[in-house]
Formats: sequence, structure tokens, C-alpha cells
Amino acid sequence: MEQTETLSKSISEVWNKRPLIISGPCSAETEEQVVATATRLAATGKVDVLRAGIWKPRTRPGTFEGVGTKGLPWLQKAKALSGLPVAIEVATGKQVEDALHFDVDILWIGARTTVNPFSVQEVADALKGVDVPVLIKNPINPDLELWLGAVERVAKAGINKIGLIHRGFSSYGNTEYRNAPMWHLAIEMKRRNPELMMINDPSHICGRRDILQDVAQKAIDLHYDGLIIESHIDPDNAWSDAKQQITPERLGEMISNIHWRKEDVANEEYHAALEKLRQQINHLDDELMQILGQRMKVAEKIGQYKKDNNITILQTNRWNSILERAFAKGEKLGLSKEFITKYFDAVHMESISHQNRIMNS
Ligand code: PEP
Ligand code: MN
Repeated sequence: MEQTETLSKSISEVWNKRPLIISGPCSAETEEQVVATATRLAATGKVDVLRAGIWKPRTRPGTFEGVGTKGLPWLQKAKALSGLPVAIEVATGKQVEDALHFDVDILWIGARTTVNPFSVQEVADALKGVDVPVLIKNPINPDLELWLGAVERVAKAGINKIGLIHRGFSSYGNTEYRNAPMWHLAIEMKRRNPELMMINDPSHICGRRDILQDVAQKAIDLHYDGLIIESHIDPDNAWSDAKQQITPERLGEMISNIHWRKEDVANEEYHAALEKLRQQINHLDDELMQILGQRMKVAEKIGQYKKDNNITILQTNRWNSILERAFAKGEKLGLSKEFITKYFDAVHMESISHQNRIMNS
């Protein structure tokens, strides 16, 4: 009884540590591998929690699907030897029961589970009456409602230590990332749930080692509460996610190389300068809105002419020439092509909806 209390207290301490650093192999493979990874991670002094996948949801059958329940005692041993609390992924009620039976300290719901309300509910039901922290990864598709739904299901089961993991969103085709970060979605999730910790998972965003450091830094610059990064004693020969894993020592270096930022500072000069610049920003934003409003009024006039002459709203040539002009101007102003595209898409869609209203009135 007493021991449980000390343990749960220390988990609260770990849970509240910032930045919270979680690392360990994608998958638990053998007892030796789990114990060696944990010991070497603990030796870096940079890691707070050991992670390992016991059951692995794999895209295609026939690949390694995790060692299963027999790996749980390995984690107990790794915890005893390294002093690191352990975190694993759970996707079913039975997995929750097994994990709790073997004293797993933190559970996480994987991206492929968050998409499925039946599975999330099953996990949540198994968590009723249990006091264990739960991290919820974003769903593989960019849908904040699903992510929120999973948080609500777990919260309704009575879990009060809930955190979020941003691991990126899957998209079709090859991109720089394995899973597009879509930072704005994670930022919006954080805005809606300021009380929940938000951890970044550079490993599953990047899918490769060479850009892990940059993504980790970006997350810290965006005020994330922590990082979860996969590490392995022999990364190239890992049984899953080999390309994105790094050794425990490399992980230690990576954490040391991060420029940690604070949210605020007690410096009047800084606050005064920022306040002035923010007023400028507000002023410019107001002007932009005014101008956008005027632009829509002009679009509506065009809509009236099109209506009178029975012409379609969308004119592909005109749209192309707007974009070309914008790219050329934008480049001179230091605005990226990506931004120009998104911005003009939004403006164009708004114009179309104004014209639609005129056409059909
Ligand atoms: C993992 O953390 O190893 C994993 C399977 O991640 P995700 O659910 O983000 O794909
Ligand atoms: Mn993985």
C-alpha cells in the first residue's frame, strides 16, 4: 500500500516535469534490448520516461506485430534497473488490463486507435476506476474532432491525467515527412485545451533520423511541453521503424543540443518593445481586414455582371493569372509560394461564396 503511494507520487512528479522527455524503442524486441536501452537512456540523464511498443499496429500484415504480453515483465525489470517509469501503447481493453497488471506507469493511445471511437471507448471502459496517466496521439487523419472525442471518452472514464501527443498526419505520396506535421492543427488543439500537456513526436513525423533535431527544436520553439523520440541500441537493425531510431547516446546529445526557451521573462524593456510591435501587428491586421472586406465588395459587383450576362463564376484563366501575379509579387516581398497559395485559395473561395450569393439571390 505504502509502496503504491510512493510510486504514484513519483509518477505525478514525472508527469509535471517540463520539458518531459520520453524515449525508448519503437518495439520491445528482447529482454536484453529493453534493459540495455533503458540503462543507457538513464545514463544520459536526459530522459524521464521509457517508452516501448508491446503490441504494434502495423499497416501491412506479415511484419513484426510486437512481442505481446511476454514483453511486460521485461519493462518491469528495465524500470527496476534504470529507475525510469514506463509507457506503452494500448489499443484494447485486454491490453489495458495486462499493462496495469504489470505496473506500466503511463499508457498511450496510438494514432490508428484514436481514429476509431469503438476502440477508444473500449480502452476508456477498461480505464474506469483506475488512476493512470494517459497520452492520446493525434488520429492519422487531420481531424481535430476525433482527437477531441478521444480526450472526452478518456476523461469521462475518470482519468484526470491526460496529455496529447502530436505525431503528424498521414498523406498520400512521398513528402519530406513520413507524417505531415500540420503544426497549425496541434496549435489549435492546444488553444482549445490549454490545460492538457502537448508532447511532440518527431520520430513519427520525420520517419528518418536526419531531420529529427530540427523538428524537435521547432516543437520546443512552439512551447510544447515535451518530446517522445524513439531510441534503440542498434537502430539500423530495429524490428520496426529502423530508419527513424537513434542510439540512446545520440538521443542524449540531441536533447543537450536543443535551445530551450521560456514562455516569459521579467524584463520591462522586452515587454514594452513587444507591446509596441504587437500594436503595430494589430493595426496591420485591422487594415488587412478592411481591405479584404473591400475586395469582397468588388467581387460582388463582378458577380452581378456575371449574373446579368449569364457567365460562370469560376474562370480558370483569370484564376491562374491572379496566382501568377501573386507568386511574382510575393517572392519580392519574401512570402513563400506555399503561403501565397494557401492565402489566395482562401481569398478566392470567399470571393466565390460572395458571388454565389449574388448569383442565386
Ligand atoms: C509508435 O509510437 O511506435 C506508434 C505506433 O506510433 P503512431 O501511433 O504514432 O503511429
Ligand atoms: Mn514507431
